[in-house]
Amino acid sequence: MKIQTCEVCQKDITTRKKFMFTHIKCEHCQTPYELDAKSWKWYMLFPFVSVMFAMFVSIRILPTEDIFLKMLIILGSARLLYRILCYLGFYFHFLNYQVRKKSQEDL
Ligand SMILES: [Zn+2]
Repeated sequence: MKIQTCEVCQKDITTRKKFMFTHIKCEHCQTPYELDAKSWKWYMLFPFVSVMFAMFVSIRILPTEDIFLKMLIILGSARLLYRILCYLGFYFHFLNYQVRKKSQEDL
């Protein structure tokens, strides 16, 4: 799916994985991008929200007392939810990347 348009070469930056990365590269011109400040908030929040939601659902709804099975379902649904959140983030442009500044590379 398309994440955004490359500022340098004006081509689409796409990803096949529905995960959020802190750093990406334009596959056409190799320009490095990083998450902008606003997106960092989501980056921290998405995994947290996913796990909390999955735990809540499994505690409330799952009929099993099997802890191992519960853990599997929590992890599985948290991962799924995380992917959905990332997908929505890219789709609705909550998640934006900015061109990585040269000065930060030197640090
Ligand atoms: Zn590019």
